[in-house]
Amino acid sequence: MGHLIPMLELGECLVSRHGFNVTIFFATVTSSTTHSQIIQQTINPKSNALNVVVLPPIDVSSKLGALNSELLAHIMFIMEESLPFLRSSILSMKVRPTALIVDTFGTNALAMARDFNMLRYVFFTCSAWTLALCVYLPTIDNELLSRHVKHHEPLPIPGCKPVRFEDTMGSLILVKDDEPMMVHQMLVKMAMNIGDADGILVNTWQDLEPMALESLLRVGIIRGRIYPVGPLVRGFNNPSRTKKEHQVLSWLDQQPAGSVIFASFGSGGTMSEAQMEEIAFGLELSEQRFIWVVRSPCKEENDTVTHGSYFDVENEKNMDGSLEKFMSRTYKLGHVVPMWAPQAEILEHSSVGAFMTHCGWNSTLEAITNGVLMIAWPLYAEQKMNAATLTEELGVAIRVKGENKGDVVGRKEIQRLIRRVMVEEEGSCMKDKVKELERSAKMALSEAGSSFDSLHQLACHCKAHM
Ligand code: UDP
Repeated sequence: MGHLIPMLELGECLVSRHGFNVTIFFATVTSSTTHSQIIQQTINPKSNALNVVVLPPIDVSSKLGALNSELLAHIMFIMEESLPFLRSSILSMKVRPTALIVDTFGTNALAMARDFNMLRYVFFTCSAWTLALCVYLPTIDNELLSRHVKHHEPLPIPGCKPVRFEDTMGSLILVKDDEPMMVHQMLVKMAMNIGDADGILVNTWQDLEPMALESLLRVGIIRGRIYPVGPLVRGFNNPSRTKKEHQVLSWLDQQPAGSVIFASFGSGGTMSEAQMEEIAFGLELSEQRFIWVVRSPCKEENDTVTHGSYFDVENEKNMDGSLEKFMSRTYKLGHVVPMWAPQAEILEHSSVGAFMTHCGWNSTLEAITNGVLMIAWPLYAEQKMNAATLTEELGVAIRVKGENKGDVVGRKEIQRLIRRVMVEEEGSCMKDKVKELERSAKMALSEAGSSFDSLHQLACHCKAHM
């Protein structure tokens, strides 16, 4: 969902501001009903010029073998198997499209676009710092990478801050085992495809990440242009959109301004049962109002997080009785939402005071664009890099200690973190900073702004190719 949602926003912008006809092809993982319902709720184009095509679900379980638990491998295989459908869909279109814009996982489709004489773009839905790490990956000296992975030395990225081992991207460290070498090769191939595109759109803005953007421009690894077009998040800069109806939104309407902590860990993050129990107690002990989005706990012992819930999404109720007991004790204080909540609308609500988040880039941008400060609880992928940026560079979040695999963050620590952002002076200082970033984001998207201009330039480039 972290790729689909900004892609939809980009599609809406290209239609409404630049008059393009846009078709979004969406490769599906599973035919699970909960998953399909979430997708259907999310895909709700406002214009006839925006068409969403859901490609047939792909089952790649037989291909994955030992890589079954690797999210990246899973997605890459699905994308690979979806290519023939994409090709025939493009061939059947009455007018050959001018450009193909893929997300990071879809870069293998760029070769097809070249055959069709289409412009080839990548929409990178994470930060510019992550993009820098990604595009430098094929050129990083093996020795350096090995020192990072085996001896936990920081990984230098030209022109950017180095990546500390404790913040590194999950799939990078897999190179230390033989078998997931394939995952590393997939990453390198993806990075080379990105670097070779005609342009890279990044969901960030100039003033948020000047250093990383500057480094991408300066070092000649990328063939095409960089277009910082963000923040593209649902609803931002579009106050006229229709208000969603949801029980928690009605409840939020009754709560005092800034009084609710919202805890949610993205579209894929799940936690162990022990960790969920600590979160429940932490919320209760904090004595703050809350909304908490819960998933089935992950099943493997010693594993605090998995990204597997998408592949087992039907199995959403199994907190024994403990969740029910917690809810009956705290029903006056807050809401537990199973599986999926209207996150963008919740973060927009004035009653929300802070966000306990896994630091997915979309969640991060949704918080910033609504001026909501954060408790950073990164789980997988590049989320630890995002957490480092939010806490150390931007000063709009505090970070959970003991977030690593196998650790359980205790209830007292969770209580303390919540009170630091919701009650203590520290929270109000961070609030000022996040409000400043909210203003900067609005500015970037305004007609005189840097992201507006970037997208305009991309549109001009496409129109010249028509
Ligand atoms: N999301 C949502 N409701 C949920 C969980 C997630 O609407 O209960 C949305 C969230 O608003 C964001 C996206 O799903 O737009 C998650 O993207 P992100 O990059 O934060 O994390 P990912 O799920 O990709 O790890």
